[in-house]
Amino acid sequence: MKIGCHLSASGGYLAMAQTAVSIGANVFQFFTRNPRGGAAKPIDKGDVAAFLEFAEANGIGPILAHAPYTLNAAGAETRVREFAESVMADDLERLEHTPGAMYNFHPGSHVGQGAEAGIGLISSMLSRILSKKPFRTTVLLETMSGKGSEVGRNFEEIRAIIDATDAPLGVCLDTCHVWDGGYDIVNDLGGVLAEFDRIVGLGRLKAIHLNDSMNVLGAHKDRHEKIGKGKIGLDALMRVVNHPKLKDLPFYLETPCDLQGYRDEIALIKKMSDSN
Ligand code: FE
Ligand code: FE
Ligand code: ZN
Repeated sequence: MKIGCHLSASGGYLAMAQTAVSIGANVFQFFTRNPRGGAAKPIDKGDVAAFLEFAEANGIGPILAHAPYTLNAAGAETRVREFAESVMADDLERLEHTPGAMYNFHPGSHVGQGAEAGIGLISSMLSRILSKKPFRTTVLLETMSGKGSEVGRNFEEIRAIIDATDAPLGVCLDTCHVWDGGYDIVNDLGGVLAEFDRIVGLGRLKAIHLNDSMNVLGAHKDRHEKIGKGKIGLDALMRVVNHPKLKDLPFYLETPCDLQGYRDEIALIKKMSDSN
């Protein structure tokens, strides 16, 4: 199976891949720059080349780049939207160095303009960026918990962004977010996946953020918990990992863990996975 976690990008690509191997992971996620959206470090071509060789030799990938979570493509102010657009365009340019990567982002928050207006702003930004050239990176919309005025709070909003965008998009399903968003993956995983398939299409689903949740179903809060320590629980999360329609996807943990914690979670999941 493909499993890994969010890692610090401070040591570069090769260091992340080596860390991944050291904790039993074969995929990983990282922030493209300071999660609050500062300047990105220049690409170190030597590091990228060493990473690509190491990744090939060790069967690492696909890697998942996560946009800074403060980007807001649906912001009310032009300055906020332009910042999101320039950061995303720059991130995708940089990811051209690591073909086959995926780029996950939070669609945005409509800050009172309404979901429909937010969806329009997000999809027009994506259409502009993705029409510049055929990027080698797949852009993924992350399913959100619906905290505040988040767009992407349900499958319909994800679908609406896809429909209004003039380029193909994928989706990253976050187990904590959909649970907090009101989808009962504990008691009715099959029903939730059937609904996802009907509205979005399972063919769009490219990655899973595997997280437990501190909150109850439908809380719209978005507080991740360690695997098996939250309201979703280990059994339900293992049904996600082992589901025939999901088991071949890459799983990325974003639980509140240090490296040893991630190593333990990965070992536990592998032990309980049908594919190992
Ligand atoms: Fe995220
Ligand atoms: Fe997530
Ligand atoms: Zn989250």
